[in-house]
Amino acid sequence: MGDILAQLWTPEVQAAFTLAVVFLVILYVLSIVWVARDAYLRGGHWYVWAVVALVPLLGVIAYCLLRPPLLLIDRDEQELEVALKQRELMKYGECAHCGYPVEADYVLCPNCHTQLKNLCPTCHHALDPRWTVCPYCATPVAARSGQNRTTAPAGRKPVMPDEA
Ligand SMILES: [Zn+2]
Ligand SMILES: [Zn+2]
Repeated sequence: MGDILAQLWTPEVQAAFTLAVVFLVILYVLSIVWVARDAYLRGGHWYVWAVVALVPLLGVIAYCLLRPPLLLIDRDEQELEVALKQRELMKYGECAHCGYPVEADYVLCPNCHTQLKNLCPTCHHALDPRWTVCPYCATPVAARSGQNRTTAPAGRKPVMPDEA
């Protein structure tokens, strides 16, 4: 038996065995690094998972099964969604005169015909009456601040929803 083993244990087999061990060690170290990094990106206790990953093979398998969900990315997505909804809400307001819901680029209130915005004479974008220049095409426009809102204090936006 020992003779057979000694015959099999040639320098070639030794070299192959060493290579395999080195390969496994590299794989082992990389798996720990991957677990720690992945857990960190997911907002989990990455150091705990790095210790778990020290158990060869089983640690990585356990991590794959039990790793925390993508908390950080989820949170970012939720914040983005809230911001988008707020932007959507900002597009709407109400008529300063009658309270009818109007969109940001309405020029007239469809209900009471109060003028909400000026129209740019050049590019026909709806402009805030306080603006003296069109931000779309740089045409100077006459500000008509007092036409329909003589009582509105300067600096307040006339059609913002938070005024209601
Ligand atoms: Zn109105
Ligand atoms: Zn313009």
